[in-house]
Amino acid sequence: MSSVLRLMSTMTAPLSSKCPSSLLNPIRRRSPPVVPFRRSLVVAAASSGFANENREYVIVGGGNSAGYAARTFVEHGMANGKLCIVSKEAVAPYERPALTKGYLFPPDKKPARLPGFHTCVGSGGDRQTPEWYEEQGIEVLYQDPVTGLDTQTQTLTTSSGKLLKYGSLIISTGCAAVRFPEKIGGNLPGVHYIRDIADADLLVSSLEKAQKVVVIGGGYIGMEVTAAAVGWNLDTTIVFPEDHVMPRLFTPSLARKYEELYSENGIKFLKGVKIDKVEAGSDGRVASVVLGNGSIIEADTVIVGIGAKPVVSPFETVGLNTTVGGIQVDSLFRTSVPSIFAIGDVAAFPLKMYDRISRVEHVDHARKSAQHCVRALLTAHTHPYDYLPYFYSRVFEYEGSTRKVWWQFYGDNVGDAIEVGNFDPKIATFWVDSESRLKGIFLESGSPEEFGLLPRLARWQPVVDKEKLKNASSVEDALDIATSSLQVPL
Ligand SMILES: Cc1cc2nc3c(=O)[nH]c(=O)nc-3n(C[C@H](O)[C@H](O)[C@H](O)COP(=O)(O)OP(=O)(O)OC[C@H]3O[C@@H](n4cnc5c(N)ncnc54)[C@H](O)[C@@H]3O)c2cc1C
Repeated sequence: MSSVLRLMSTMTAPLSSKCPSSLLNPIRRRSPPVVPFRRSLVVAAASSGFANENREYVIVGGGNSAGYAARTFVEHGMANGKLCIVSKEAVAPYERPALTKGYLFPPDKKPARLPGFHTCVGSGGDRQTPEWYEEQGIEVLYQDPVTGLDTQTQTLTTSSGKLLKYGSLIISTGCAAVRFPEKIGGNLPGVHYIRDIADADLLVSSLEKAQKVVVIGGGYIGMEVTAAAVGWNLDTTIVFPEDHVMPRLFTPSLARKYEELYSENGIKFLKGVKIDKVEAGSDGRVASVVLGNGSIIEADTVIVGIGAKPVVSPFETVGLNTTVGGIQVDSLFRTSVPSIFAIGDVAAFPLKMYDRISRVEHVDHARKSAQHCVRALLTAHTHPYDYLPYFYSRVFEYEGSTRKVWWQFYGDNVGDAIEVGNFDPKIATFWVDSESRLKGIFLESGSPEEFGLLPRLARWQPVVDKEKLKNASSVEDALDIATSSLQVPL
């Protein structure tokens, strides 16, 4: 995304059309390169304990998609002695969304901690602890990021100097948080970014001592961290340059409902404001945030949530197409270099439904792209990835919270937005295009059955009666109107 906030563009824009890298990152309407399908070159993989430098399958990145990819290798009986994961982090793959949810619960409200949320618990799968990887015969190299790749010899170099030959390589390096430059205080003690568990631990240790918190950014991360600060009873201000929270997805009206709820919980909003710099006190730790209008907000803890950038390094120099923002792949996650694949946040893939190339920085895609890629790599399956965009958030979930918030969105937010309900407790927004096709649906606080309708509606895009929808008496009524327009059985 631009160096400004993730999830920031106007409400009428499609999720993709304004911000080049974000929630749903449209890249361009052009087919990806067609590359010959080549099953892995089997490079004499060491069958026991990887005694030499050869690995049949290597995954670079030990994050969300890597965990799901590993599970799929195991399901196909192709992990034991064949698969190696090279990870920058010190821990086995985990469900990253937990870092701004259960991980930040107040200390007395049973915060989530590892091993509780290793992949694949987020989708009801096994909890893949470090022992699980050992039992499955999967080698995991921790805290040893890949620093180089030679595609001719199919060899990776790691920061500790290891050389790893691969038969097939899956790149799953995800994204990194966009940071404020050092010269405006971006690296001061007490200024936090949140991408991995080490970041989350640092943040928790700051929250334990914090009194005044400033959250910069009104997107997902900003909204979730701000809600967490409510649980810690901290004096919290959220600051962002746009007119309302979640501008790339929420309509102004929908955003107002969430902002009211946050305000009722004591959160202060400073909207339409730019940040000039973050300043230190005499102890060298952050002490204030200086705004573009000259005003100063005191802060002992600052959390910056202004977006993320795909981690293409060190792969951008080896012939992979990274001009699209991430690493461009085809509908089976093959890059333009034979035997190299990319999945998850870093992959720019053909979004078949909407005929465009996109990156999606969401966990549902991380999981599904991993499974699709590994199946295509290991079996004869060649059907193209056909992803339906799905985003969600959950906040205020800790015990004792006055209101739990859980929303889901499916599809594309293009066309007219029709809002139904009053957020007490439910609200829904239906996006309907000029041909009356239902393109996208947002639902807050639905029942499991109601949430279950959303993907079907967004996938089938029924022609709906806009007037009827506008006049719906309740969210339930509106969902009935939409589902009765479906020409296919539910
Ligand atoms: C705090 C937070 C909250 C989120 N909440 C939600 C949510 O509520 N809903 C939702 O849908 N999505 C959410 N997401 C997004 C979701 O977590 C990501 O889409 C998902 O993690 C992407 O998976 P991935 O495997 O592509 O990348 P990641 O999970 O980020 O994993 C990438 C891994 O690669 C490693 N790496 C990078 N470079 C190298 C290298 N050179 N060598 C080795 N390893 C390397 C990284 O350290 C990391 O471990 C959230 C993300 C964050 C950060």
